[in-house]
Amino acid sequence: MEIPWKPRRNLDQLEAMAHVPRSMQTIAGWGRIGTPGTEILSEDLERLSVGAVLSRGLGRSYGDSAIPPSDAPTVATTTLADRILGFDPESAVLRAEAGVSIEQLNRRLLRKGFFVPVTPGTQFVTMGGAVAADVHGKNHHVDGCFGSHVLRLKLRVPDGRLVEATPDGEHSDLFWANVGGMGLFGHILEVDVKMKAVPSPWIAQQTERVDDIDQYIDLLKERAAEFPFTVGWIDCLSTGKNLGRGTLIAGKWASAEEAPRRFPEPKRRITFPMELPSWALSRPTVQAFNTLNYWRHLPRKMNGLVHWETFFYPLDMIREWNRMYGKRGFTQYQCVLPDAAGRGAARRVLELLSRRGGASFLCVIKDCGEANRGLLSFPMKGISIALDIAVRDDTQALIDALNEQVLSDGGRIYLAKDQFTRPEHFREMEKARLGRFLEARDRWDPQRKVRSRQSERLFGDRAAT
Ligand SMILES: Cc1cc2nc3c(=O)[nH]c(=O)nc-3n(C[C@H](O)[C@H](O)[C@H](O)COP(=O)(O)OP(=O)(O)OC[C@H]3O[C@@H](n4cnc5c(N)ncnc54)[C@H](O)[C@@H]3O)c2cc1C
Repeated sequence: MEIPWKPRRNLDQLEAMAHVPRSMQTIAGWGRIGTPGTEILSEDLERLSVGAVLSRGLGRSYGDSAIPPSDAPTVATTTLADRILGFDPESAVLRAEAGVSIEQLNRRLLRKGFFVPVTPGTQFVTMGGAVAADVHGKNHHVDGCFGSHVLRLKLRVPDGRLVEATPDGEHSDLFWANVGGMGLFGHILEVDVKMKAVPSPWIAQQTERVDDIDQYIDLLKERAAEFPFTVGWIDCLSTGKNLGRGTLIAGKWASAEEAPRRFPEPKRRITFPMELPSWALSRPTVQAFNTLNYWRHLPRKMNGLVHWETFFYPLDMIREWNRMYGKRGFTQYQCVLPDAAGRGAARRVLELLSRRGGASFLCVIKDCGEANRGLLSFPMKGISIALDIAVRDDTQALIDALNEQVLSDGGRIYLAKDQFTRPEHFREMEKARLGRFLEARDRWDPQRKVRSRQSERLFGDRAAT
């Protein structure tokens, strides 16, 4: 199949662009809590990755995983290295530079009948970021995480060598350390991933109103048998018998017969115009928004064909929507609660949030399947809950309380979202897995050359003296 290759810029241009340093700026995650630092960029990842610094993609991780450490405030941003290096429609295997985004792949390959095997709730995510966070989507219960579809990584490891790693062959330990390893094993330069052939670019969607959290969990598990994609939006300010009410969305790719013949036009995007003052996100505003959203869904169940972007990426319709959280920014708290803890575990998290007055605009619930071999990959068989929380004076105390609750039910948190978890909570949540992760770091980066703000906070990383 003809994939229009993007030629590299000529050598003179490249020379001028290589290691384009930007002046000191604020480097932040999507939650907008940043620190001063410098980004270096180049089209040539082999050159950019010489000298071990943290990699960064499109900065869509919410917390501090793509923020450089305090004593070496530089990140190597991959977004100029955005070439598709090859695609074989027979095997559906794609090779791409780490800076290629899911949005670019969707734009170029969906017309030809291929989609990424797993997509998060935004398409503005690079291949490198998708592997490093081992992102999951609405199909985790069927297809697992992104890393489970990756066949090969080309890496620059912290000692400077270029290395290839595969899931079951060469350097498989390094492969699974990188999958969910939050960039701490060096730079991912290239990713081979098996794409998914889809019958049409339309989604057959079913939405239904759900009365409370217990019904939610039962329905999520039931719909999972029928639909490859499921997700729920929860009104997290509802209480009492309505606690956890919301809308459950399920979907599957429409067949060629069901789908309209035309290829859907790309969705128009608007930009959020300004930072909002903190009162704009007060409890009454969130309550009004959530109530409206819930009652918008008057019939109990609705079916229809929808645009793939509407289904997978509703939040992408408003660029820079994170400005809504103003100067102090926000955090997303995402945990997964094992099925073994019973469905009461999700109820306990929502009750705690409600007791402590946490008002979350966005509360998303997902069904997770089995964990993969990623040493710190997030999902496990159970239910994941994600809450957007505006930063206030008591945010640390709220996250501490949520973590204690999640710990007591055997759950864990998602590093791609986190900026507030204390190391002692993290160690306790990950006590069964952390040893192997740290051993892998000792093997591949004994001097801890590659560090992030997150690794300083959670692993106590410091530069070797
Ligand atoms: C609106 C929204 C919805 C989201 N929904 C989901 C969801 O449904 N499921 C989900 O799993 N996640 C979700 N996310 C989180 C997002 O998918 C991840 O944080 C992803 O890692 C971001 O990719 P990025 O390219 O922006 O990477 P960055 O945020 O820039 O970096 C993330 C991590 O990847 C590392 N990294 C990046 N590039 C490389 C590289 N080349 N080599 C080595 N390490 C690298 C960084 O060091 C960092 O640790 C969502 C985020 C947003 C903003």
